[in-house]
Amino acid sequence: MSGIREWNLVETNLGRAQDVDYRVAVLPVGATEAHNLHLPYGTDTFQVQAIAEQACERAWDNGAKVMLLPAMPVSINENTLGFPWTLSLRPSTIFSVVGDIVSALSEHGIKQMVLLNGHGGNEFQPHLRELCRQTDVQILLVNWWLTAAEAHAEIFELPGEHGDEMETSLMLDLRPELVEFERADEGALREPIFSAMREGWAWMARPWHRLTHNSGVGNPERANAEKGRQFIETVVEKISGLLVEMSEATVDDMYPYTE
Ligand SMILES: [Zn+2]
Repeated sequence: MSGIREWNLVETNLGRAQDVDYRVAVLPVGATEAHNLHLPYGTDTFQVQAIAEQACERAWDNGAKVMLLPAMPVSINENTLGFPWTLSLRPSTIFSVVGDIVSALSEHGIKQMVLLNGHGGNEFQPHLRELCRQTDVQILLVNWWLTAAEAHAEIFELPGEHGDEMETSLMLDLRPELVEFERADEGALREPIFSAMREGWAWMARPWHRLTHNSGVGNPERANAEKGRQFIETVVEKISGLLVEMSEATVDDMYPYTE
């Protein structure tokens, strides 16, 4: 029996792919950046890739004709370059790369794509507003960590933002050998001097090395693998459901609405 997973572009081949009527492409976007002192630089990529694989596999098993594209390992980290070895693509660069991938999909007759974002610093909306006039590919943007707010609130005790209990729990489930828990700091934030920023109505691209101590935001001390597994399961169930619906949808002038 072949070990080739036909929903995974890096594994399948032309011989197989040309015989399948694929309906939806999934593009995972990760990042390469410091995650507190204890999680790997590839945390966002490991997470989004694992979630994308599990969601595509489940959707495929439920009849969806999905194709998982290779995960992008670097994305927008312009404000976090103050930490050594963090890599970044400028927004205009990553927008160009995504635009080129979408153009290739269009060439191959694929009309639907999920942009599965795995990094909080990536804001794709402005680009997608521009791109929607330039392509016939219908793109749904999904920030995976926002797919299951209720489960997030139930499972995690000390919600944070980066290298926190949630991310540490996921990595303890996915790649425990890469987690050095004993190195973690408490992920405390420095307060902005302006009350407008503290109240949340003035925004800036936060210089992460001034905002945090070791890049972490949120205390990871209550993290464990079981919490990670539970959250991933909820997220995967949601995303695979969307992929099945998309695969069955008709892409016409009214898509994705009813008459
Ligand atoms: Zn992260």
